[in-house]
Amino acid sequence: MSELTGKHGLIVGIANKRSIAWAIAKAAAAAGARLAVTYQGERLEENVRELASELTEPVILPCDVTNDGHIADVMTSVEREFGGLDFLVHGVAFAPREEITSPFLNTSREGFRIALDVSAYSLIALTRGATPLMAARGGGSVLTLTYLGSERVFENYNVMGVAKAALEASVRYLASELGPQNIRVNAISAGPIKTLAAAGIGGFSKILQVYRERAPLRRNVETAEVGDTARFLLGPAGRGITGSVIPVDGGFNIMGL
Ligand code: NAD
Repeated sequence: MSELTGKHGLIVGIANKRSIAWAIAKAAAAAGARLAVTYQGERLEENVRELASELTEPVILPCDVTNDGHIADVMTSVEREFGGLDFLVHGVAFAPREEITSPFLNTSREGFRIALDVSAYSLIALTRGATPLMAARGGGSVLTLTYLGSERVFENYNVMGVAKAALEASVRYLASELGPQNIRVNAISAGPIKTLAAAGIGGFSKILQVYRERAPLRRNVETAEVGDTARFLLGPAGRGITGSVIPVDGGFNIMGL
């Protein structure tokens, strides 16, 4: 029996085959989990349906995380299909283009609001929706994805760094409140990986290069490596871990220069 056999998970944040959330979905499915996956809007529906055809009996649902009605509908469908929920993966982030191309000082009020709403508040909203479904199972595991730009300055990351700082603080507050219900909340801080979201960050190739040169493992990480750590955190092997930000970055974060 695999470590996630009999478990049901909800994965939010698949856009295409390069998405970190898709690597996590594949790792969880390979470990025996049955999954519900969401797509952001009609533009991405076909992609996600095609990818999900690789899964066993997937549940495929629309979800724009800025829409509370969508989140409520997702939870209703998940409850109907699965009768509860064992884990939730949040792999969602967005900042308007001008916020990551102009100086941080010029961050607009609206750009700040959107980045923090989509990239950080959505974890709180989704976790709130998932909590009763996890409580029905005697506990659960919530996992989000963050980046070192929450603590250190990376050129052009700008308001996304602020959003990731808010996201990581939210992980700790949620973990503290939900621990008594045996619901764990953690984040993986991934090294840079060429995905759709990363394509928007100016100078991203340079970041990849610097990580290759300076990370202890002297290479970039792959989405499958994030998927493997996620499988561990989502399942019984991670049962003693909550409120943590776990780096999967080849060790880059420990280096001074
Ligand atoms: P991606 O573009 O594949 O995934 C981002 C997802 O966010 C997409 O599926 C998109 O549809 C979704 N999204 C954006 N706005 C949304 C909304 N309003 N409602 C619902 N979904 C919405 O890119 P990715 O790199 O796989 O990103 C996944 C997560 O990993 C993000 O939180 C990102 O910040 C984080 N991360 C990425 C890297 C990297 O280098 N790629 C490194 C560390 C952390």
